[in-house]
Amino acid sequence: MQDFRTAFANTAPGRHKARISLGTSASGTELGIPLTVLRGAQPGPCLWINGQVHGDELNGLLAAFDLLDSIDPASLSGTVVLSTTANPLALDARRKRTPADEEDLDQSYPGRVDGLPTQRLAAALFPHVAEHADVTVCMHTVGTPYDGHPYAVYKLHPDSGVDEAELLRLTAHFSPAISCRMSVAAGGAELPGNIAGALDYQLLARGRTAFMLEVGGGGRAEASFIAAATAGLRGLAVSMGLLQGPAPSLPRSLLRATKRGHLTCSHGGFAQTNVRPGSVVRAGEPILRIRNAWGELVETIIQDKDVFVIALRRDPVMQSGDRAAFVAWQWDEVAIN
Ligand SMILES: [Zn+2]
Repeated sequence: MQDFRTAFANTAPGRHKARISLGTSASGTELGIPLTVLRGAQPGPCLWINGQVHGDELNGLLAAFDLLDSIDPASLSGTVVLSTTANPLALDARRKRTPADEEDLDQSYPGRVDGLPTQRLAAALFPHVAEHADVTVCMHTVGTPYDGHPYAVYKLHPDSGVDEAELLRLTAHFSPAISCRMSVAAGGAELPGNIAGALDYQLLARGRTAFMLEVGGGGRAEASFIAAATAGLRGLAVSMGLLQGPAPSLPRSLLRATKRGHLTCSHGGFAQTNVRPGSVVRAGEPILRIRNAWGELVETIIQDKDVFVIALRRDPVMQSGDRAAFVAWQWDEVAIN
């Protein structure tokens, strides 16, 4: 298998397979990040799709496969690169995090070449994306125990040269249930950990355009969500000038979340809900109910103000502290130009 630099330097139109080496396992297996470079017959920009950074999130990379299958290199102006998985160690283990060090790769960019396994994964891929990608779509899903209607996430970096309106417009290609502006602030952040170590944020820090898509749920292939993401990628490619075609019709407005968080449960048991992710639940209405091991109702998850439900527990088995739902507490509607 050729390395990525060789594949990217090949100007012959077509589909070029590559691998970025990560060394070897104890048993001698070559470890590496699999990539496909789809080189067009005409010059043009580079769209980079990172198929997954968390090993149990699959819909996004499957959508990218379908996009690559649909493109004739003769009609492509520029390059589409797919890094199928940025974390092959987690993929093979069917887990979100790297088994070797239990780190979250999307909190580890730009990485360290002499670091822990996850830092090495980050350092192996990041320079290539930062060097070549005009636009990077970072594919995710919500965690395997959850359901989510596809939505987008973006971050703002003061030095990126990419403003919020542009990021919202890019996410609009995917008709997300909501586009979430995510803070990277330590301490006050909506999620634990080093959010500034996300691939999209580190690319923005280097003046590259990047955002995240959350394409449904983890650990499975959801056909309708995959098809919608593929259509969104195609529209994005047209808007970048990579493909010919009528200008994609974008929604005239998007919902924008500006404050999000998890609702956790206090009681273990079995969860049931009638709520659909991607919908608003009014103040005081039940979001999810939990019955204990004796069938008694022990907890009803409710909020005292309206919430937008982004993701919801799918696996009904719960214990105290588990996440019942991921919601937006604050959102508005913004026009897309
Ligand atoms: Zn993810």
